[in-house]
Amino acid sequence: MTLLSPTWTAILYLVAAVCFILALKGLSSPKTARRGNLIGAAGALIAVVTVFLSSRLENVPWILMAIAVGSAVAAPVARRVQMTQMPQLVALFNGVGGGAAALVALLELGHADEPWVRVAAVFTLLVGAVSFAGSLVTFAKLQELMTTRPVVFPGLPVIMGAALLAAIAASVVVVATGSAGVAVVLLVLGLATGVLLVLPVGGADVPIVISLLNAFTGLAVAASGLVLGNVLLLVAGTLVGASGTILTRAMASAMGRSVAGILFGAFRGGSTAGSTAASDRPVRSSSPEDVAVLLRYAQKVLIVPGYGLAVAQGQHTIAELQAALEERGIEVAFAIHPVAGRMPGHMNVLLAEANVAYESLKEMSEVNPEFKTADVALVVGANDVVNPAAKSTPGSPIYGMPILEVEEARQVVFLKRSMRPGFAGIENELLYEPQTTLLFGDAKDSLAKVLSAVKAL
Ligand code: NDP
Repeated sequence: MTLLSPTWTAILYLVAAVCFILALKGLSSPKTARRGNLIGAAGALIAVVTVFLSSRLENVPWILMAIAVGSAVAAPVARRVQMTQMPQLVALFNGVGGGAAALVALLELGHADEPWVRVAAVFTLLVGAVSFAGSLVTFAKLQELMTTRPVVFPGLPVIMGAALLAAIAASVVVVATGSAGVAVVLLVLGLATGVLLVLPVGGADVPIVISLLNAFTGLAVAASGLVLGNVLLLVAGTLVGASGTILTRAMASAMGRSVAGILFGAFRGGSTAGSTAASDRPVRSSSPEDVAVLLRYAQKVLIVPGYGLAVAQGQHTIAELQAALEERGIEVAFAIHPVAGRMPGHMNVLLAEANVAYESLKEMSEVNPEFKTADVALVVGANDVVNPAAKSTPGSPIYGMPILEVEEARQVVFLKRSMRPGFAGIENELLYEPQTTLLFGDAKDSLAKVLSAVKAL
């Protein structure tokens, strides 16, 4: 006897599924993202409670203990994580999801009699294992526990191909015989494939691979829904698989790359991580007071925020600077590049935190024609997303990536700490152009100094 009838279970699963869809809709705009997140969490809670009330579960104390341990680890980590470390947290959570799906499939294979259930279980096992191991490697790369450069060695493509072929052969054997021993071999092959798939990916591309592995986990979970006969897992997994695939494609195209190029580019010798060495070519640098004069006598200022603004946590100071300039009759807007920062929507989230009005945030296609009429482009902690090499230097790691055309503005001011390059590790010729000036220092400190100089004018 269970507390919920099958009809009520189906209704509650439907409510949870609708919550997940509304959550995705909410997450598509910064205005509604917070609400979307809460709706998604409510859907997940409804789903978990429904499972407890609708199934005849064994080992309930163990299950509750596992939930308590998982929550005790995850909640403080999620609360404390810096915004700039969000991609690695997503990687870790995603990997755990894939690993859980793989373990469920491994156990279910023991009593899956029908061949199609075995096919779904084998798929879950293999894809879940790839996602688990691949996600752990992406975590290690982003957390700099290992090199962020592509790791390639002679024979890697051959080993990779052999692992894949062996995995396919083991899958066929498990479907045909249900052998538990071969299923464990398949799990190990999946783990090895996950590691081999991510090792050759360079640091700048790792967040895209996280999104791809997220899509993999979604597919593995959807297949586990088939194995367990659970409609909600099927729906939720499909949503994650579809949205992860769309996000992967959007990120790859915003960076001017193909997904295949990211995964297999290093095999062809094209490294995606460049140097981190600072250049010693001469540049024009200014004081905060000089920058304040430029801004104060401008009619139109376009601010380009980037990763360095997030590192410096300068979002509140930049919002104050915007307000101070606007009070003095200067038109100010933020030019947002889709991959500025280290995760999609990073700058929108950062600026929303400082209550910058959404109307002030302009997307790349909308703002690019406006640089021609801007008196000052104020580039704060951004580099790759304004680097003209993306248009002019074939062979550059960012060649083909659409960029913010700040070089069109009358004056360009860069706020950064040194002459070190950005994430892609390549020089930015714009730093040496005659219309460019640099204000060296931590972005938050520099912004505070410029702000007080503007107010003093
Ligand atoms: P970049 O990494 O190109 O440049 C950041 C700049 O900020 C550097 O020039 C750095 O110079 C400066 N900086 C760092 N810390 C500070 C600080 N405390 N104060 C002032 N300046 C600082 O960032 P962008 O945002 O321009 O580009 C994002 C890059 O990340 C792109 O290559 C993109 O492809 C990649 N990427 C983005 C993803 C996304 O989803 N958003 C996903 C994957 C990759 P210095 O050290 O001299 O201060």
